[in-house]
Amino acid sequence: MTHRIAYTKPSITELEVEYATDAARNGWGAQCYDYIHRLERDFAGHLGIAHAVATSSCTGAMHLGLAALGIGPGDEVILADTNWIASVAPVVHLGATAVLVDILEDTWCLDPALVEAAITPRTKAIIAVHLYGSMCDMDRLLEIGARHGVAVIEDAAEAIGSSWQGRRAGSMGAFGTFSFHGTKTMTTGEGGMFVTNDAALFARVTTLSNHGRDPNEPRQFFPTVTGYKFKMANVSAAIGCAQVERIDELIAGKRRIMELYRALLSGVDGLSLNAEPDGTVNGYWMPTVVFDRDTGVTRETLISAFQAADIDARVFFWPLSELPMFESCPGNTTAHDISSRAINLPSYHDMDEAAQARVAAVITGLLSG
Ligand SMILES: *Cc1c(COP(=O)(O)O)cnc(C)c1O
Repeated sequence: MTHRIAYTKPSITELEVEYATDAARNGWGAQCYDYIHRLERDFAGHLGIAHAVATSSCTGAMHLGLAALGIGPGDEVILADTNWIASVAPVVHLGATAVLVDILEDTWCLDPALVEAAITPRTKAIIAVHLYGSMCDMDRLLEIGARHGVAVIEDAAEAIGSSWQGRRAGSMGAFGTFSFHGTKTMTTGEGGMFVTNDAALFARVTTLSNHGRDPNEPRQFFPTVTGYKFKMANVSAAIGCAQVERIDELIAGKRRIMELYRALLSGVDGLSLNAEPDGTVNGYWMPTVVFDRDTGVTRETLISAFQAADIDARVFFWPLSELPMFESCPGNTTAHDISSRAINLPSYHDMDEAAQARVAAVITGLLSG
């Protein structure tokens, strides 16, 4: 009998337990925001960005940012067809239209040429999602955005530890969003972060995130707009403070796991792994294998092979346009094609070499059998 290999699980040390215990014991009354403000300051420091607002999730952070940009009915927002639903759901809830474009073959991120071709007078934003830690082409997207007067937003939920020409993912666009869900590189259980260098946008999001209460409003209980309630709890933030202190170690762990997969699979024909083009660093949130077309390996054969080996691997994101609530986009051929022959590999922080070797053996087995 082998033990089941998990897909992801967080790295929790005595430091997280100590801070969470302190928050549970003392983080009330006058101290009830202390860990939240510390997490915002420390995470902003890690990114090298001016402002951060802790939220209950990345989805909430995206919703706040889009709302603060004034995005609503009649507006179009461009993003890659290959994405998790969380990146697009706030667009839909705000009444705007999601325009789904195809991805690049190597980085699995949105194709800048197709982004530009999709721009119309109604386009208000481009959401650049750094898929599985792989960087979108930020130079081209920022240039296209500037030329057309369209905001470029970064959903960097999967890109802690990733950078573009030395600038950290999430710090380059009009705003960036992060997720601290338990599966992500750093966690608060559930949680997220909105970040920006734009002081006015920061002020709007601060107000919107707290039921529309402007911090400068002198009257108590006097919201000036109808806002949202997407705040993080202080106990969660305490765990986050410990994780940010350890963030270099957490990122290094993800990169170490990816490097070992690369070594275990080097010289194996018929597959490709996460890309790291020159000038970029990939935080490798999710090591992923894409099998060549001519191997005949499919989503279905992958699921059953990993299940048989008692390994929790997950399918590559389905194109959003294959989900029932979106219009189909048969022209997004790369998005459809890649997701049908790719799999995310387990990459939990404490994964050891023996477990990674077991995963690699399933992959080589599929190719030899
Ligand atoms: C995980 C994830 C989200 C959702 O994060 P939550 O904190 O669960 O809302 C959003 N976008 C991307 C790219 C993600 O990977």
